[in-house]
Amino acid sequence: MTDHLMSTYARLPVQFERGEGVWLWDTEGKQYLDALSGIAVCGLGHAHPTVAEAISAQAGRLLHTSNLYGIPLQADLADRLCQLSAMKRVFFCNSGAEANEAAIKIARLYGHGRGIECPAIIVMENSFHGRTLATLTATGNRRVQAGFEPLVQGFIRVPYNDLDAIRTVAQNSSDVAAILVEPVQGEGGINVPDPGYLAGIREICDERNWLMMLDEIQTGIGRTGQWFAYQHDRLLPDVVTVAKALGNGVPIGACLARGAAAELLQPGSHGTTFGGNPLATRAAMAVLDVIEAEQLVNQATGVGRQLLAGFTEKLSGLDGVREIRGSGLMIGIELERPCGELVKTALHCGLLINVTAERVIRLLPPLITSKKQAAMIVDKVSDLIRDFLTE
Ligand SMILES: *Cc1c(COP(=O)(O)O)cnc(C)c1O
Repeated sequence: MTDHLMSTYARLPVQFERGEGVWLWDTEGKQYLDALSGIAVCGLGHAHPTVAEAISAQAGRLLHTSNLYGIPLQADLADRLCQLSAMKRVFFCNSGAEANEAAIKIARLYGHGRGIECPAIIVMENSFHGRTLATLTATGNRRVQAGFEPLVQGFIRVPYNDLDAIRTVAQNSSDVAAILVEPVQGEGGINVPDPGYLAGIREICDERNWLMMLDEIQTGIGRTGQWFAYQHDRLLPDVVTVAKALGNGVPIGACLARGAAAELLQPGSHGTTFGGNPLATRAAMAVLDVIEAEQLVNQATGVGRQLLAGFTEKLSGLDGVREIRGSGLMIGIELERPCGELVKTALHCGLLINVTAERVIRLLPPLITSKKQAAMIVDKVSDLIRDFLTE
């Protein structure tokens, strides 16, 4: 392998050559079951024919013009996303971090508009919001921040799933303009908040005139068994960010907003060269088409339940298993001790999984995962955990 790449990633010793649905093949021809979807990106699995056809047709027609000009596909995708989310306007970008940057800039404009000189955003412990300077500052993980000081000002951190902590900040600070929170924490360990947590945040934001901003970069686009995770709670945030699954692997992110938050970015205040270009927006349209046509949001609910029930049956009560939790096709199995090595053991057995927060086995299988494939995931992962705990 080359020395000419920066050492950003501790890569596993495997390289994939091709994929089909939930399956991947490496350069040696070995087959793998993908229970991670490139970290919640390939919701439709690999090489989905409708997406491939849309990308290829668009590449033969037009890849890029510029946001100097109208882009009909971008407008169509914005209409579609607003219809699905009940948001009002969309800004397109190229990644999750960029979508959160847009949200942070909106919060700052909103704060200044309310006469706050140094607007602050409340963020959570164990959150993950990206690797740019503002988003790594928002991230609740010291390891993401270490070495990159000075960090960006204007963030106040509170524990996740703790409404009282937010109320305390509300009483002591008049600088808050917004709350930024994941409906389920992904990198932080598949942390599912108590029922009523998001509704409580909505209530506080209404009382205080703060923006409720949800980072749905991992939870969005069907992952939790709703198009957006907040739809489980029948409430509307003011700002929503999405990215990962929107393009099924074609880079695209979006910041959606409604109400006052939707009107703040104006010509000259924000922008990006590639954001919402014809190729990326065509791919995303195909993704939404397929999810709708194949009713994959419902399927995610059913298969997610099956996975949770399967793991609970096979693993609960087992010494060393602390908790099995999840929402839709976001599943976390927390062990009593660090278990990072399981990723390699699984790889050896032809299975792609992830371990996050040191001791949480994270599964993010594609939305297209069938019942039969889900049963395979339960069997394989349960065996791995049993062996790990009894070795
Ligand atoms: C992945 C992720 C991000 C960052 O997205 P990038 O595309 O890697 O910049 C932000 N927030 C959450 C919740 C994520 O899961």
